[in-house]
Amino acid sequence: MRVPLIAGNWKMFKTSDEALAFAGDLARRVADAESTEILLCPAFVYISPLVQALRGSGVKVGAQNVFWEDSGAFTGEVSAPMLKSVGARYALVGHSERRQYFHETDETVNRRLFAALKGGLVPIVCVGETLEEREAGKTAAVVETQLRQGLKGLDSNQALSLVVAYEPVWAIGTGRTATPELAQEVHRSIRTTLGNLFGPDASSQIRILYGGSVKGDNVDSLMAQPDIDGALVGGASLDAASFERIIRFKR
Ligand code: PEP
Repeated sequence: MRVPLIAGNWKMFKTSDEALAFAGDLARRVADAESTEILLCPAFVYISPLVQALRGSGVKVGAQNVFWEDSGAFTGEVSAPMLKSVGARYALVGHSERRQYFHETDETVNRRLFAALKGGLVPIVCVGETLEEREAGKTAAVVETQLRQGLKGLDSNQALSLVVAYEPVWAIGTGRTATPELAQEVHRSIRTTLGNLFGPDASSQIRILYGGSVKGDNVDSLMAQPDIDGALVGGASLDAASFERIIRFKR
């Protein structure tokens, strides 16, 4: 069975004091939420303090990005061994904001994916179409290409350590959520592509998260879909009560 994963992406929000206060609050709120895996992806600078603050709470900490080299003269970058050494467990790869503002391509997604795996981090590979692509009827093709290129060279065994996040670009931070049926349709096609790439066994075990304006009032119907295994949450993960409600989704 696929254990549900609810992941918060804090983007470039919160001060140090706010991050630590949130961690204490969340840990108290979700102490009994054992059937769901909980992850927070803060800015790099808060990973180490949050790992320490959340020790023993069951809430894991991940990174919003990871560089593809282990070390070297790459000013401003952070590598998988560095992240691992401070206790990060996951890394987002290819978030649409990275693709849109920082020239992320399927090729760099692929390099980051392998760096994360080599460094012992679970990669959460983000895919999703723009509004223009959706309106042109290209959603399935765009997402399939992102998967085929982004996951190139991965074998079935490595694929078991993968999480995919489907995040339609038009739904991120806009308050517009994909309907559960529409999200399920894309999730199903993602699982079919994963099956073609890695076989039915692996594809039935890989978690596929939905992301894009997930909130307390839409999470239940999204999580009720058979191929939606969790959520990647931006805005609503910044408030502990909202995030708790999402973590306590009902199927
Ligand atoms: C995200 O940052 O991945 C995201 C889905 O943001 P939001 O929930 O704010 O749409």
